[in-house]
Amino acid sequence: MSDHTIETVPVTRMGNGHDLELTVHRITGARPGPTLVAFGGVHGDEAMGPEEVRRLVSSISPAELKGTIVAVPVANPYAYDAMSRFTPQDGLNLNRIFPGDRNGSVTEQLAAVLAEIMLRADYFVDFHSSGLYSTVEYGYIMDDGKEMATSFGAALLYHHAPYEGTSNAWAIKNNIASTVCELGGGGQLTDAFLAKAVRQGRNMLKAIDMLDGEPETIAEQQIVMTELVTLRPTRGGAMISHFSPDRLGEVVKGGTVLGEVIDPYTFQVLEQLVAPYESNILVLSREGYTRCSPGDYGFMVGNADTTTTVDQLFAS
Ligand SMILES: [Zn+2]
Repeated sequence: MSDHTIETVPVTRMGNGHDLELTVHRITGARPGPTLVAFGGVHGDEAMGPEEVRRLVSSISPAELKGTIVAVPVANPYAYDAMSRFTPQDGLNLNRIFPGDRNGSVTEQLAAVLAEIMLRADYFVDFHSSGLYSTVEYGYIMDDGKEMATSFGAALLYHHAPYEGTSNAWAIKNNIASTVCELGGGGQLTDAFLAKAVRQGRNMLKAIDMLDGEPETIAEQQIVMTELVTLRPTRGGAMISHFSPDRLGEVVKGGTVLGEVIDPYTFQVLEQLVAPYESNILVLSREGYTRCSPGDYGFMVGNADTTTTVDQLFAS
């Protein structure tokens, strides 16, 4: 029977007397097909993920769906509440400890429950974004999951060995085709990114035959980056950006100053963040003025000289 149900999955009992549970949406399609598991909010400061999951799931009626979507819009409720990348109770990054531990700390237990939910999947997608002050747009293209990454349609894709302990690494270990979508963040161009998430998400569902219709080509040309670096301020203060998020995807010459950290007390320039490669693709940036702490995401750039194409990547 086609249906949209919401269930709660218990995780643990907290010291404050609250029962920590995960809220799981299940959309059962009218016709048989594969199972897609989708997460948002693995990082609690990336508020775009939960909203992207909500809008994408809300756009799908069980009648049009083939197969089942299992969606966890907020994968780390305590981190979401604290608007933090890390769970306040144990300081852990949920996306570095998959498949977790049922006998571990709160984040380890969350990871264990989520890892178990993932095992139902034929396909897995993790919706991330940038954090509170920066904005990003790219997708991960894995060896398994090519059609997901290409149909989601980000113009910039990134191919690399997955970081240990990520949901994505767990998917790969279990032969689940997967991708990670990095879309928006920081309260910048929010409406445009949310609209993209729905359009591109539905396009991906067509590509994996969970919705009827031919997938459209969203990005004319998809560039696959193989080297990507994060430029982090080492000082806190006022970040003045010279490359706002409407310029993502632009190629910038090596040595270009992307942004500066200004001391808000003395007005002194404390630090400059400089494009490191000879030729740099802008992947993550900030609006003209934002605040920063030491070690934050300042900018991300890909090496434009070591890119490839989707066809070349899978040719060998
Ligand atoms: Zn993230």
